[in-house]
Amino acid sequence: MKMCEKCGNLMIPERKKEGLYFVCKTCKIEKKAEKSNCILKEVIHNEKPAILKADSDSESLPKIKKKCERCGNKEAYWWSQQTRSSDEPETRFYRCTKCKQTWREYS
Ligand SMILES: [Zn+2]
Ligand SMILES: [Zn+2]
Repeated sequence: MKMCEKCGNLMIPERKKEGLYFVCKTCKIEKKAEKSNCILKEVIHNEKPAILKADSDSESLPKIKKKCERCGNKEAYWWSQQTRSSDEPETRFYRCTKCKQTWREYS
């Protein structure tokens, strides 16, 4: 992870057309990442597991009436997953039955 040189806050990786950048949300500084592939992989690796879990058997998941923001479909599969420690609220995931868009909701 990269810290902002000016304010010391964590810089958020953002993928742009020209490559991967680290952006400080506080002072709007952008820095191009040098080893973009390596860092990008790390980011994706951290984000994906929970979502990937249901990929293989989404058909067996329960369905719920939920509007998909992408295609307007009103039905989605859902599942929930505990994040890190057990005293954190569980995260609920939804997957549109039509376009397979997956998103999460914090309860
Ligand atoms: Zn900063
Ligand atoms: Zn959809």
